[in-house]
Amino acid sequence: MSDRQTIRGAAAALRDGSATSVGLTRAALKTASMTESQVHAYLTLDTEGALEAAERADSQLAAGDDRGPLHGIPIALKDNMVTEGIETTCSSRILSGYVPPYSATVVDRLEEGGAVITGKTNLDEFAMGSSTEHSAFGPTRNPWDTERVPGGSSGGSAVTVAIGSALGALGSDTGGSVRQPAALTGVVGMKPTYGLVSRYGLIPFASSLDQIGPFTRTVADAVDVLATIAGHDPHDATSIPGALPDLGAGLGRGLEGVKVGVVSEMQRDETEPAVRANVAGIIEQMEASGAKVQEVSLPSFEYALSAYYLIAPAEASANLARFDGVRYGNRVNGANVAEMMSKTRADGFGAEVIRRILLGTYALSAGHFDAFYGQALKVRSLVRRDLDAAYEQVDVLVGPTSPTTAFELGAKTADPLTMYLTDVFTIPANLSGHPAISVPVGLDDSGLPIGFQVMAPALGEEVMYRVAGEVERLAGFTARASLASSEVVAP
Ligand code: GLN
Repeated sequence: MSDRQTIRGAAAALRDGSATSVGLTRAALKTASMTESQVHAYLTLDTEGALEAAERADSQLAAGDDRGPLHGIPIALKDNMVTEGIETTCSSRILSGYVPPYSATVVDRLEEGGAVITGKTNLDEFAMGSSTEHSAFGPTRNPWDTERVPGGSSGGSAVTVAIGSALGALGSDTGGSVRQPAALTGVVGMKPTYGLVSRYGLIPFASSLDQIGPFTRTVADAVDVLATIAGHDPHDATSIPGALPDLGAGLGRGLEGVKVGVVSEMQRDETEPAVRANVAGIIEQMEASGAKVQEVSLPSFEYALSAYYLIAPAEASANLARFDGVRYGNRVNGANVAEMMSKTRADGFGAEVIRRILLGTYALSAGHFDAFYGQALKVRSLVRRDLDAAYEQVDVLVGPTSPTTAFELGAKTADPLTMYLTDVFTIPANLSGHPAISVPVGLDDSGLPIGFQVMAPALGEEVMYRVAGEVERLAGFTARASLASSEVVAP
């Protein structure tokens, strides 16, 4: 891998004069033009806007106006973050053609940091899914094997980074939607502590769980993207006040004395043997490098998935009430207002979104609230309690990101429950609000990537990145997805 395919490498090349932002951006756009017909990672490519931003970045850098680590770097955005003047659809027919009048805080921060926004990426409609097949505009395919899914819901963003049609990308992670597609496409994907990154302008799915996080090729790059987008925002009431910690301070500090908990409940028999073997191999190497490894049992993990699939749809059913044909997006007329709203929603939402709204409305309805939503909230408290107790004994928890590698397109669409099960290892960190990261560590027998997950306590990004950086070094994963006609273009 040439250095310029990482953010840090490209940033160094921009500063020593061996690359320009226009060159990096052209290379990313050219890679997109050669691969999009095979992978469909982007919904909108903003070629003109990106080249303009790149020219601006080059002149700013030349004038000594250095905006930091992402200055001049091509970054893609999941299409559930609003972008002023650029269509934002959430991969839903109900929003197709919607051009927002403002940009999300993360977009403003990227722009202030001089990043070049390449375009908007495909997702499962309203981020509900684990495969990017539930998009109204067709699925995204996995560049490691185009008959397979890239994971989801941020599959488009993951694929841009995996093939180099962007050097970094943003996704959103409500139940695993950054970490799981990162694992299935061989890139790094991270979910920050709840409240670390503003969600102002992120079209909400489940507000008590949603977080925006980066996709990158390396752990160090993930630090740089997070440092650019994180920090207090008065527009988001859940945003954590105060100064940002030095997120990357632990990088390169090794594992000596770090206490690592291996979660027993994440070593399930259903997990594919290659995933289990790879993860176990990394844990052995961590121990040999000085980590103090111990097994930790978190009994409530068994119930986390069920709780999530009540809490997330309940919140979604309320959040999606705003799409009524009156304020945003598409409208289907009817004889009266009620009929207009009902026809608009029936026509505009896909099957999975409708399923979630029905599930959520049922779980919140009078007579069922205590039995479903109320119980789920109790499980959520137990998950938090188990995790808090674990972090009194260990610094980080580790295990696989996903029980499987990339599965075939269509393999799970007919059975929602098997699709939901793909999130079993990622959901606990969303229920607790803790940070977690997926690092690529190897390939299975079919040559498909395997992700290793590192979880840390609230605001434990520093130790999480420290351990993730060592996992990356120990694994030495350098394989790259290659499509028949898609050699990544040298800038
Ligand atoms: N796959 C999970 C779901 O369908 C998580 C989605 C997400 O994190 N946005 O709800």
